[in-house]
Amino acid sequence: MGNFIKSEENPLKYTVIKPYKESHISIRDQGICASRCENKPCTYYCPSRVYCWSDNAIQVDYMRCIECKACPFGCPYGNIEWHYPKAGYGVIYKI
Ligand code: SF4
Ligand code: SF4
Repeated sequence: MGNFIKSEENPLKYTVIKPYKESHISIRDQGICASRCENKPCTYYCPSRVYCWSDNAIQVDYMRCIECKACPFGCPYGNIEWHYPKAGYGVIYKI
């Protein structure tokens, strides 16, 4: 059990991320986030805290993404466009 990340630990501690210049994540319709998605689950299921609600919109800090690929399934409105970063970019795990 010693190798599991504890919930209070920052997962970025175990990774090196080489971000591409363009985001591999986008929100399809910010209006859905604002008007229909009351609990905004993306802001708490993402283990790397990529999403936050600020200025009446979901902000996407894509450079923090550790590519767990939870977000396309976790958004109740299918409102997140996600694909792997361009080859040679993205996350490298150090564990
Ligand atoms: S879970 Fe989906 S619809 Fe809800 S705030 Fe996040 S991106 Fe928007
Ligand atoms: S793939 Fe995982 S780490 Fe990246 S934004 Fe989605 S939930 Fe967060």
